[in-house]
Amino acid sequence: MPSKQKTADQVDISHLLPPNSLFSGLILQWFDLAARHMPWRKSRDPYAIWISEVMLQQTQVQTVIPYFLRFLAAFPTIESLARAPLQQVLKLWAGLGYYRRAKQLHSAAKLIVQQYQGRFPREFPAILTLPGIGRYTAGAVGSIAFNLRVPVLDGNVMRVLARLLDFHGDIAQPAAQKLLWQIAADIIPADRPGDFNQAMMELGATVCKPLSPACDQCAVRRFCLAQQRGTAEMLPRKSKRTAVRTVTCMAIVLQRNEHTLLCKRPEGGLWSGLWEFPAFEIYGSKDSRHALNAAKKRVKKSLGVDIEFQAVHKPVRHQLTHRLMIYQILIGSIKNGRRDAAAGKRITMHLPYESARWVRGINSVPVARVTEKILAVAEAHIHNNRSTR
Ligand code: SF4
Repeated sequence: MPSKQKTADQVDISHLLPPNSLFSGLILQWFDLAARHMPWRKSRDPYAIWISEVMLQQTQVQTVIPYFLRFLAAFPTIESLARAPLQQVLKLWAGLGYYRRAKQLHSAAKLIVQQYQGRFPREFPAILTLPGIGRYTAGAVGSIAFNLRVPVLDGNVMRVLARLLDFHGDIAQPAAQKLLWQIAADIIPADRPGDFNQAMMELGATVCKPLSPACDQCAVRRFCLAQQRGTAEMLPRKSKRTAVRTVTCMAIVLQRNEHTLLCKRPEGGLWSGLWEFPAFEIYGSKDSRHALNAAKKRVKKSLGVDIEFQAVHKPVRHQLTHRLMIYQILIGSIKNGRRDAAAGKRITMHLPYESARWVRGINSVPVARVTEKILAVAEAHIHNNRSTR
């Protein structure tokens, strides 16, 4: 039987605490033997650890590794990141998603150069003031790079703690998070705090998994109340997130003389500063003919050219945290047009974009993953049409 929801006062963590350091000793011993190899784990360089921690937010380790290596090769120091144009930083980030992270990294690197002579600050309160660095990232960098006795609490650590303590509070609620932060801070040992934090995260990622915890392989099984009470698989409790909204758009793939028309999204909001095919949200209309006519008019007005359109029947779906984006695709070919629509020239779109440009190869500018998906579907459609002629 699950126990009732526990409050902060009711959660007993004495079995995990020093001076009986058996718990931290066992989990560190396990980590020394079982930790997965990751390029950033070879380093105590705060810059490399910071980059890895920011990339790892909402992203799998295997996805992050090549991005991390490319990023560090291009920007080996904080100074080199601070000096780089933002567009170059975004280009290296393209495909990782959550692009705000890249912009904040860039801003923070500039600030570190201005205020700390390019050296990552060592004090926890100073780390916390950097753009884009919250309590989790500050804890990870502070503990791993500088041996500060500060906790981390991500989804993995929350799950491990909730199970160790048989805690049935709703971890989506601030009160439960506050309690778990406090517990994470209380159990951290003075010796090797960074490794301890990594061990807790690693245990959650590889052993104490969400659906089927491998309790028989768990180094800290003897401390685990949920395992003893048979409640591990129902923990942690988490209330549902807000509903995902579906957004339907029309994207126009327009190519001419080996160049493709891309538009730069304005600052602020989703994918800001990235380039994409001109796209329009289709509000409330399921009528694709109406959407198609509206799109034709807008592009024609913007470019001042006559365009012939073909509809692609396979839409592209792209899942974001709170939105499901569905792109209908139109492939356009220019029938006749002014000289300023010619390849290589800069053009102005009268659309909610900052600018528009004909580019040779979409990867010459930073694009989101969804733009690559749209291009792949459009090119497959063009290829199939050619081969069936
Ligand atoms: S014993 Fe099982 S539930 Fe408990 S911490 Fe280990 S893997 Fe997780």
